[in-house]
Amino acid sequence: MSLPLIHHPGYTIDLPASHPFPMAKFRELKKQLDKEIAGQEARWLIPDTVSESDLRRVHTRDYLQTFLNGKLDHADQRRSGFRWSEELVERTRLEVGGTLLTIEAALEYGLACNTAGGTHHAHADAASGYCLLNDLAVAAAYALAKRWARRILIVDLDVHQGDGTALIFRDDKRVFTFSMHGADNFPARKQQSDLDIPLPRGTGDDDYLATLAAHLPKLLERVMPDLVIFDAGVDVHADDRLGHLSLSDGGLARRDAYVIRLCRKADIPIAAVIGGGYDRDLVALANRHAQLHRAAHQYWLAQR
Ligand SMILES: [Zn+2]
Repeated sequence: MSLPLIHHPGYTIDLPASHPFPMAKFRELKKQLDKEIAGQEARWLIPDTVSESDLRRVHTRDYLQTFLNGKLDHADQRRSGFRWSEELVERTRLEVGGTLLTIEAALEYGLACNTAGGTHHAHADAASGYCLLNDLAVAAAYALAKRWARRILIVDLDVHQGDGTALIFRDDKRVFTFSMHGADNFPARKQQSDLDIPLPRGTGDDDYLATLAAHLPKLLERVMPDLVIFDAGVDVHADDRLGHLSLSDGGLARRDAYVIRLCRKADIPIAAVIGGGYDRDLVALANRHAQLHRAAHQYWLAQR
């Protein structure tokens, strides 16, 4: 048995260098993981694009028709952060398919890591903040519909609040949304998660990890999820272009190892996605995202 890593072969869209969302980071991440851990009891799985019926559990018919068929108007495109293209739709559907495969693999093997995912700002009926479809929500709804899980905890540690996910599951007790984020980061108008922990500007490793440790163990006991979906956004890093927190590389590694260990010790399957991360230095950025896969790999090897 080896650790399932989810790879997205279709990530070929190149955005202008000035665009804050660096798509090329996905290729750089794959390259780093190929060098470091793939083949050493870690293997790549390749997802299919998500079907429209799986998207329909979360997104409205109108929004899907508009987005999938290229009818987003100028204001919608601005709100999404992307110019519409067929390649963008394909890439986005593949991203959601990747998160579905990640939860499927996590439920089978206990732990699985995506090399994309975490588009938590997407609402049921609208794109927002570089998020077109909400993969976390679609994946949670998918697991519930298949009866693979009855109670799901979404642990969203991206620096931005998981506002889309919070709103989608606001009245659904089967999904508990936990968001720990920068108080001063996007979105300006936050939604209400089941538990929100806003952090002050400049929060560093020790305070961050102590706050997480004050909440996550209690949440696992209280929610008793049979699946955790973990958004391991690295935009909490001190060098991130958009985030206002100050974690180090070491702090990120400790965070991800902690979340994985805590869930697995409680025998809860954990499906991890990489979330946000913004830096013009793609090697440094991919290295930050790879902390998640390294932490998962080390845990995996230690459990053999
Ligand atoms: Zn983010």
